[in-house]
Amino acid sequence: MIPVMIPMLGEEEAAAAAEAVRSGWVAQGPRVARFEREFAATAGAAHGVAVSSCTTGLHLSLVLLALRPGDEVIVPSLSFIATANAVRYVGATPVFADVDLATGNLTVDTIDAVRTSRTRAIVAVHQGGVPFDTVAVRKAADDWGLALVEDAACAAGTTVYGQPAGAGAAVAAWSFHPRKVLTTGEGGMVTVDDADTAARLRRLREHGMNVSAADRHRSSQPVLETYLETAFNYRMTDIQAAVGLVQLGRLAGLVEQRRALAARYQELLSGIDGLVPVRDPAWGRTNYQSFWVLLNRPYRTGRDEVLAELAKRGVSARRGIMAAHLEPAYADVAPAPLPVTERITRDSLILPLHHQVTEDDQRHIVGILRELA
Ligand SMILES: *Cc1c(COP(=O)(O)O)cnc(C)c1O
Repeated sequence: MIPVMIPMLGEEEAAAAAEAVRSGWVAQGPRVARFEREFAATAGAAHGVAVSSCTTGLHLSLVLLALRPGDEVIVPSLSFIATANAVRYVGATPVFADVDLATGNLTVDTIDAVRTSRTRAIVAVHQGGVPFDTVAVRKAADDWGLALVEDAACAAGTTVYGQPAGAGAAVAAWSFHPRKVLTTGEGGMVTVDDADTAARLRRLREHGMNVSAADRHRSSQPVLETYLETAFNYRMTDIQAAVGLVQLGRLAGLVEQRRALAARYQELLSGIDGLVPVRDPAWGRTNYQSFWVLLNRPYRTGRDEVLAELAKRGVSARRGIMAAHLEPAYADVAPAPLPVTERITRDSLILPLHHQVTEDDQRHIVGILRELA
């Protein structure tokens, strides 16, 4: 079976994790601090705050906004469900906006279409690693006086306008789940440029303490911590950060390899009418965290049949990106029409793309798709 994704984990990651264990310091400590500095530099941000997942990172990013019940936050429905859930964690109301067919992302127009007097913020996603138009969306958010949280879960190694996806973001949340390009098992990061915001995030992820447990342990004098606000335990461990530091060294190479595999898919698929593969938008380069194809007329086989046929022949593809508004968890929400979202989630599939995919695998996969055309 050709899996849809395999994390690239080598002996170096195993050794780094073992070294963290042998050091006796396994909770958030010096390796997390180093990973934060190095990841922030890679992401184009001044500060990184490591957290236990992108979901918890999104939660904290929204806590920063001090939203109240009745406040609306515009999110794409076409995203992993955590994007919308984070809005509910803080008691605000997620309002679903449609996306652009080519990128799967929010645009200024789709956001504007659902904006109301109660809108306070936007969570925009770099979906599957495809960057949204940061210049246009950040400017619109500014003009409207709305906060913008960037869900960069999939976007490590993606560039926008020649810079890393996080550069210039007020706040961006990243994921290191094994389904993403860079993994720490579970894990996430929030990147920001503002030092005070970074300090608040550090406090929020660690019980609201004014001094981190790591600093307290390192001190030769007794340090009495104070709990400044009701907060969370969203810390990353030093074992995870040790793995993350090794992964960070692989990131550029992994992205180049993914882009080469994506280019070959695009070339092989170009002869099949009605199959539209994802591509770079004009403003950036995707890391191809997810390589999806949209089935269009005159392609004749339905998406689920294509998935079943691929599975029968040893290929583990996946349905396209989910739409939160179609899930039971959001059955109580009556969104404005989301035709593009529903089209993409119904008619797209994600093809295997990882470091072990060979040219033969790609020809095999595309051969099946051609037969089903
Ligand atoms: C994976 C993903 C998340 C959640 O990341 P976790 O680290 O698993 O919490 C959030 N948003 C998007 C767009 C994702 O793809």
